[in-house]
Amino acid sequence: MENETTMKSAPMLRITDLEVYYGAIHALKGLSLDVQEGEIVTLIGANGAGKSTTLRTISGLIAPKSGTVEFEGKNIAGTGAHEIVRAGISQVPEGRRIFAEMTVLENLELGAFTRSDKDGIAADMEMVFTRFPRLKERIAQQAGTLSGGEQQMLAMGRALMSRPRLLLLDEPSMGLAPLLIKEIFSIIVDINKTGTTVLLVEQNANMALSIANRAYVLETGRITLSGDAKELAASEDVRKAYLGG
Ligand code: ATP
Repeated sequence: MENETTMKSAPMLRITDLEVYYGAIHALKGLSLDVQEGEIVTLIGANGAGKSTTLRTISGLIAPKSGTVEFEGKNIAGTGAHEIVRAGISQVPEGRRIFAEMTVLENLELGAFTRSDKDGIAADMEMVFTRFPRLKERIAQQAGTLSGGEQQMLAMGRALMSRPRLLLLDEPSMGLAPLLIKEIFSIIVDINKTGTTVLLVEQNANMALSIANRAYVLETGRITLSGDAKELAASEDVRKAYLGG
């Protein structure tokens, strides 16, 4: 019932007719998508389809040539990346991009750069350690010496330190062993259950569709299919193209 109510309200994120270029390369060709508050939405597609470009445009790292990115009713397209974090969107970039020379604690503190509420920051740090006990054990360790899975956890923990309402995840499964992928995905579900909306970009379409409410399929800068994640996972076209038959 709750979901039905949510589905009828205005979307938390609405992207309309986004056109993005890298010089002469036309990376996004009129891309439109919606994310409702409370959902996990996944964006799947082959290498180079424009998945990362979509996330980087939402988070303000790239300015679109045209089109709008509305978050909670305001157009944020072309706004600075810091402002977008302040507005309530945080991105976990592809390849983690943690600060390798800094400790786990310093990386997490940097995630709270938009905030000055010391008590709230301390409470969220505890929440991150509860979610990722391995980070607590390694609080003083140099981040560059963490394993791949631990670095993914740190990148997610750092993003959570800004207390985002919308979390953008770029290929969290990349380079991780199957067991760790399962762990990371179950943490994504938990994060979503505690009130954070999630937009997830993945090459691992099987895993992504298994946790998402809805999905969009992206091909060379355009959405070619969208719908209920379970229905897309069952569709023959999607199975053939993205799920290994
Ligand atoms: P992958 O799964 O391989 O990361 P993707 O779907 O995330 O792929 P993008 O990284 O968004 O795809 O790339 C979309 C297109 O834009 C590709 O053709 C890519 O080569 C191009 N592109 C991406 N970044 C740049 C850049 N900095 N300069 C020029 N072209 C770029």
